Amino acid sequence: MTEPTPDPPRTPPVPATFPDRWAVAAPVAGDTTPIEVHALEDDTVLLRQSKRSNHEAPVLALMFGSERALLLDTGATADPTAFPLRTTVDALVADWLGRNPREDYGLVVVHSHAHGDHVAADGQLADRPGTVVVGKELADMQAFFGLGEPGSDDDEVAFDLGDRVLTVLATPGHHPTAITLFDPRTGILWTGDSVYPGRLYVDDRRAFATSTARLAAFAADHAVTWVVGAHVEAKREPRTEYPLAARSQPDEAPLALATDVLTEVADAAAELALTRPGRIVRDRFTVVDVTSRRALARLLLASWAHRLRGRNRLP
Ligand SMILES: [Zn+2]
Repeated sequence: MTEPTPDPPRTPPVPATFPDRWAVAAPVAGDTTPIEVHALEDDTVLLRQSKRSNHEAPVLALMFGSERALLLDTGATADPTAFPLRTTVDALVADWLGRNPREDYGLVVVHSHAHGDHVAADGQLADRPGTVVVGKELADMQAFFGLGEPGSDDDEVAFDLGDRVLTVLATPGHHPTAITLFDPRTGILWTGDSVYPGRLYVDDRRAFATSTARLAAFAADHAVTWVVGAHVEAKREPRTEYPLAARSQPDEAPLALATDVLTEVADAAAELALTRPGRIVRDRFTVVDVTSRRALARLLLASWAHRLRGRNRLP
């Protein structure tokens, strides 16, 4: 009998500090901040688009490696006046390079998936020196990472930012191009629109069930600290949420989810695929089958009622 080989020692993840609340999620009169920047730690920054420019208010991430930085998503608005992504990223990169001087530092722009609220400002970065903006089509993304279809040998690949090797997983279901990134530096699993505190819109029930089961298995096997998606729609109180297209979310739930949410999402996804209820509500999220007319009608009605009650104005 041979002794089992012990795992190589893991460097503990660098602790990430998340904001208690986001000012841009409920802008007050006079505050016109277009992008709220929050450093999770020295080499990882969150950027959140204001509700003023788009009700989706997506969350973007910038991760710095020793050779290049990675920008995950480019937001919901193309116009640099309303949404100055390029100048914000330039300032953050310059600041980081001020602390970590080096030559020929690159930037890679990737997308959690190809929906419009995650790719809109690609054009602002297209001509940036030393920058690669990965195309939003499935074939572009697969070719760039060398990523295969789920179930293939290369449905999970490494991507090195320089002393910071991310894992890229193909996780379709919300959208065919959806990917999830794992960053061992912080232990964060970046799940885009596949898992976040809000409505998880499922376009392909089977693919979503497979992908979320895989994420749960991945987390059981890796030092995942937090699950961080691209939006917040849930309120702090369990099983309550802001309606579709809400312009202000003063009491939204925290962005970062504890890792145990993954098994919960995987269970709900399996149930959605099997029994087709259209919609499943859990404490921290709702799974919505977008091919179900009833589920969609319900969302639109709630959004319409919210607007009629005059609750959808910004100061
Ligand atoms: Zn989105």
